[in-house]
Amino acid sequence: MQKTNNTVDLEFDQQHVWHPYTSTLNPLPCYPVVSANGVYLQLEDGREIIDGMSSWWSTIHGYNHPALTEAAKAQLDKMSHVMFGGITHQPAVELCRKLVAITPPPLQHVFLADSGSVAVEVALKMALQYWHARGEPRAKFLTVKHGYHGDTFAAMSVTDPDNSMHSLYKGFLPEHIFAQSPEGGFFEPWQESDIDDFRHQLEQQHRNVAAVIIEPIVQGAGGMRIYHPTFLKRVRQLCDEYGILLIADEIATGFGRTGKLFACEHAGISPDIMCVGKALTGGYMTLSATLTSSHVANTVCGGEAGCFMHGPTFMGNPLACAVANASLDILAQGHWQHQVKAIEKQLAESLPEIEVLDKVKAVRWLGAIGVVELHEPVEMASIQETFVDSGVWIRPFGTLVYIMPPFIINQQQLSQLTSAIMLALK
Ligand SMILES: *Cc1c(COP(=O)(O)O)cnc(C)c1O
Repeated sequence: MQKTNNTVDLEFDQQHVWHPYTSTLNPLPCYPVVSANGVYLQLEDGREIIDGMSSWWSTIHGYNHPALTEAAKAQLDKMSHVMFGGITHQPAVELCRKLVAITPPPLQHVFLADSGSVAVEVALKMALQYWHARGEPRAKFLTVKHGYHGDTFAAMSVTDPDNSMHSLYKGFLPEHIFAQSPEGGFFEPWQESDIDDFRHQLEQQHRNVAAVIIEPIVQGAGGMRIYHPTFLKRVRQLCDEYGILLIADEIATGFGRTGKLFACEHAGISPDIMCVGKALTGGYMTLSATLTSSHVANTVCGGEAGCFMHGPTFMGNPLACAVANASLDILAQGHWQHQVKAIEKQLAESLPEIEVLDKVKAVRWLGAIGVVELHEPVEMASIQETFVDSGVWIRPFGTLVYIMPPFIINQQQLSQLTSAIMLALK
């Protein structure tokens, strides 16, 4: 039976609509959201809950931000899309100018793409074409365990083998090299031995390695691990030593989340290729970008193909670019620095209070990211309900309960998030 009013047909949803990483056999209930404003999601039943996830790292300025909404509306009246092959437009040119200006200086060329995973595909393809053009084809990537780079095949091949179930796709998925992930936390003293395995892998295999790909400072969906900046510094030094490209996947960490505009800045390094996505449009639209140096770009284009071999249909979508420009303008005002600092300070005070609970293995934080790691995996449906009943939206995975709220969250709203975690784990 077709519903005639505007309520979400949850039965149809359960029977026909696939949500991320869900089963058709045993679909978990979903919460219908009808609108969102500031840090709040409004549920269909009228309840308003605080979004602790920023819709997966993206909604940094909060929902329905006047400047972002205005930018989208203004662009919609001009054109929502036009092909990017042989055509250019002001929103894309302005966006690329801004990205070149705010990212590390060597990054001078911008490839706009549709999602984070595609930005990673593009980065890996650039590295492969780079070595091909140099007459020295290489097909291996070196990364660290517990990483996450997306759900498409090449991205998945460099994502943690266990988390992304490489065994399911064995035979089809390319096999790459995984070094031990960094052990030392961001605020712990640096141990030089932390880089030993990575160095060893590179020593052994560098002749086959096209590039190293790594999430700078914070490993996101692969384990919410926050590591020491010196690890990243050493990775850069080793890549230089062996003449290997370094790809920084800043898709989760970019645009202020860790307290620096880009997490690479914690280590003072520049990558050869950098991927951004998630918060690029302030959570309004899907858009990503892969940036690289003139050396890499020109080497790629001087090769047999004579160009970089990629071009998505919706590349440089003007609507998405217009919103991204508005989001970067907000960041340029600089309030994010104080906001993220205040969030970090409050997390540093409240998370240790949660750490004392029996169920809790460890807590960690950096910038506007707070993580509670448990000894045992959570029971998803019930903890989700507990959170919603406490007025918050927090979506754990496995043993990890974590928050990365919009930067605009205030002290009382952030307390509500951490108190809800405390309550749920008690
Ligand atoms: C989310 C994420 C991706 C994938 O981005 P999608 O937009 O989901 O395809 C890649 N790398 C990192 C570090 C991410 O956090």
